[in-house]
Amino acid sequence: MTTGIVYHRRYLEHEQTPTHPERRERLAYTMDQFLEEGIFDLDEIILLEPFEADVEDVLEVHTPEYVEFLRRESRKGGIIDYDTNIPVGVFENALLAAGGAIRAAMAVKDGEVDNAFAMVRPPGHHAKPYTGAGFCYFNNMAIMVRWLQKNGFRKVLIIDWDAHHGDGTQEVFYHDNTVLFISAHQMPLYPGTGFPHELGEGDGEGYTINIPLPPGSGDEVYLYVFEKVIEPVVREFKPDFICISAGQDNHFTDPITGLALTARGYAEIMKRAVDLSEELCNGRLVAVLEGGYSVEAALPYTNLAIVTAMAGLDTSNIREPPKYLSELRWRKKEYAGQKARDNIMELIRLHSNYWECFRKYLESLG
Ligand SMILES: [Zn+2]
Repeated sequence: MTTGIVYHRRYLEHEQTPTHPERRERLAYTMDQFLEEGIFDLDEIILLEPFEADVEDVLEVHTPEYVEFLRRESRKGGIIDYDTNIPVGVFENALLAAGGAIRAAMAVKDGEVDNAFAMVRPPGHHAKPYTGAGFCYFNNMAIMVRWLQKNGFRKVLIIDWDAHHGDGTQEVFYHDNTVLFISAHQMPLYPGTGFPHELGEGDGEGYTINIPLPPGSGDEVYLYVFEKVIEPVVREFKPDFICISAGQDNHFTDPITGLALTARGYAEIMKRAVDLSEELCNGRLVAVLEGGYSVEAALPYTNLAIVTAMAGLDTSNIREPPKYLSELRWRKKEYAGQKARDNIMELIRLHSNYWECFRKYLESLG
């Protein structure tokens, strides 16, 4: 299997402030690790060069007013919200991130690679049609999905496993039954949305699935989410293309969240997603990097886990350096499993109005 990695040195350019969590070391340390592991020497891994997205493609998601605002403010510097500045030049960097996602999708569409990981900055999933937010400027994922739909893939699945709810992406597709949006995220946490009862409106009713997870949720909880929610509903939806908003702030060392996923856990859930893509849509899968702020203890290993699982390579040696494992012991909470199961039961009840698989599951319980 071949996996494309979209990367460009310009992804290190963007910086809000040197102490901002969304900083260039997120990718710089990962690239060091990839080079040390010899990732790019493998026949299975192909480095892909991104391009800046056409503004026309950005306008499929964002309003002309917002695009113009960002272009203008980006020339002199400005501000969107308290944690999202507009540094000079961010407009072009954000176009390169959105273009990186499109480049990944294009490589899969054209058969250049089997699947692809867009390792981009700045991230995108909090960006809404009319504004950026939460470190995000353009919604890379949504722009890529609209591009895929213009290029013949009608039914698209988005799995957003970033620790934060993908509120921007949800808003773009909230009334749309051609895109199934599934978000598993920590609650409570920024941005404060992502309850099970947010399930889409109009034609999109039932096509937004929110899975709130309590702090302390670890690998077992994520595997349970795949087994009970994602796998059955995705099989019923039958997507033409699978897209992953691959946030890596669910790692047990992440400084701004409270989840407890391990690098090995990332490899496992990505394997599940790859298996679904092979079963349902000829292996067509693109992952787009979202958050992840543990630059030394997590990102080099979680990014490696993702790429290794996507390329079908042996993941048994994927792990963080042992010195970090003591943090897992205090971060992971056994009681999180029960709360997660309760939340999942609630969303299965709500979504049994729309999905046969959930209806049958409830019947099986009697
Ligand atoms: Zn996040």
